[in-house]
Amino acid sequence: MIHTDILEKYAELVLIKGVNVQQDQAVVVSAPIEGATFTRILAEKAYELGAKNVHINWSDDELVRLKYEHASDEVIDDFPSWRVQMMEEFAEDGAAFVSIHATDPDLLKEIDSKRVARASKAAGVAMKTFREYTMNDKVTWSVISIPTEAWAQKIFPDKSADEAVQALWDEIIKMVRIDEEDTIAAWNKHNDVLEKAYKRLNEKQYASLHLTAPGTDIEVGLANNHVWQGGAAVSEKGTVFNPNMPTEEVFTAPHKYRVNGTVSSTKPLNYGGSLIDEFQLTFKDGKVIDYKAKQGEEVLAHLLDSDEGAKRIGEIALVPDESPVSQSGLIFYNTLFDENASCHIALGKAYPTNVEDGAKMDDKQLDEHGVNDSMVHVDFMIGSAQMDIDGVYEDGKREAVFRKGTWAFD
Ligand code: ZN
Ligand code: ZN
Repeated sequence: MIHTDILEKYAELVLIKGVNVQQDQAVVVSAPIEGATFTRILAEKAYELGAKNVHINWSDDELVRLKYEHASDEVIDDFPSWRVQMMEEFAEDGAAFVSIHATDPDLLKEIDSKRVARASKAAGVAMKTFREYTMNDKVTWSVISIPTEAWAQKIFPDKSADEAVQALWDEIIKMVRIDEEDTIAAWNKHNDVLEKAYKRLNEKQYASLHLTAPGTDIEVGLANNHVWQGGAAVSEKGTVFNPNMPTEEVFTAPHKYRVNGTVSSTKPLNYGGSLIDEFQLTFKDGKVIDYKAKQGEEVLAHLLDSDEGAKRIGEIALVPDESPVSQSGLIFYNTLFDENASCHIALGKAYPTNVEDGAKMDDKQLDEHGVNDSMVHVDFMIGSAQMDIDGVYEDGKREAVFRKGTWAFD
């Protein structure tokens, strides 16, 4: 059993450094029903910190699967407008949003991937306005995880459910730094390290990055006036928050029309309860023109087919191989962790905040800067200890950014 003290420490961290909850602010939490104990503690702490209202959107893997098994196509295709309205109303009111990601990676293994694709498309279309609140940092938001049995046992298949959950807790505790005496100070220090890394890249203003590794040789153009970010973000109202916990990446917007070459995945991708593994994508002028996957090729096809923007990329992130998530040697089957173990790129929407003044630009201006738009944003892992990255300047001059999976800068 996980000790209440630890859960309280984690809840405080999420509320203070994660969403940085303010006096009289509403807090909306998306939580798995299995995490009820932690979620109740989170709610109590939020009220103690001044939240005016804490609303929980409960989810249950089992019920999700049952719905896919039994509901008609009509029901699957319909994302209820009341759910959209609820989220938009909270966002308009300036709420803080905590998402607890803990889906069983094999949840939808037996489900027709077409139905899953249609449901995520319906959700993607319906949630467009709400997504702009988070992706433009108009509100504060944070994605975190807690163990659930099915997920933990996927990572630790030889352990009993209880042991697996405990083992996953042990990892999460380390990675979100609640094993440190002063967790807040540890996060401040960590955010400073990431800030130093992205500031250096912002000064460079490379025209593109050239990534090479076994199965990968790709030139990724960077968006005009791109901005590297990492660690803490600042909301429209000026609140400093951490969108992901853990986080080890610095990231920016690629140029949607200037990506050429082939890239290979280095970790499996859990896309909404289905796994895609050992896959390869080939790009020409920013667009995927060829792909293959050893596992989940059909799911990958549906993902790429979500809309026009799903065939282009909206993020490139650098994570050194010595990241604690990478050093754990584990595959988490959960993007929040796996993306922080490895350099990654994301199919789909770019964060407008990754170009200068991007949050104020309209769709046309963003397109002119090379900032991709889509209803999906799906990170997948391409980094390894064999990855080299060159920064290429406008005039073609190049220099080492990464060698053997880590920073080449001194
Ligand atoms: Zn990322
Ligand atoms: Zn991402």
